Amino acid sequence: MTGLIMKMSRRKKIALVAHDNKKADLLDWVRFNRGLLDKHELWATGTTGLLLKKELSLEVNVLQSGPLGGDQQVGARIAEGQIDFLIFFWDPLEAQPHDPDVKALLRIAVVWNIPVACDRASADFIISSPLMTEEYSREVPDYSDYLSRRFKLD
Ligand code: PGA
Repeated sequence: MTGLIMKMSRRKKIALVAHDNKKADLLDWVRFNRGLLDKHELWATGTTGLLLKKELSLEVNVLQSGPLGGDQQVGARIAEGQIDFLIFFWDPLEAQPHDPDVKALLRIAVVWNIPVACDRASADFIISSPLMTEEYSREVPDYSDYLSRRFKLD
């Protein structure tokens, strides 16, 4: 993987998303890690973000609600290098009306090699990593072959 290097500063840009059955879990996790999260820039999909603001008075940039395009907004910001990592508590037991968007968001996170936590244990490991308080050089896979491919139109 010898692609582009994207710098993550000490102050990370973190996206927080939770499906409805997982919102209480995310809220609890954020409450517990409040002191650490306050040092970073937070983004969230609509309902998750409003809940975090209301319950914890957290400073968070609120996007559109997930099913109304919020997941896609998070994905777009990842592609633009504006989100450093994703905490996404998705619900494994309930189909979502916006399942394609959920899949797209998880896919784009891997395309750009950003850390993703989909459950609380993973989120615990990420938040307690020493890299949280350091600069980090994130290597983006080399897509130059893909981008320079030629099509032959008949
Ligand atoms: P919400 O979206 O925060 O607006 O509920 C979450 C999601 O389902 O992606």
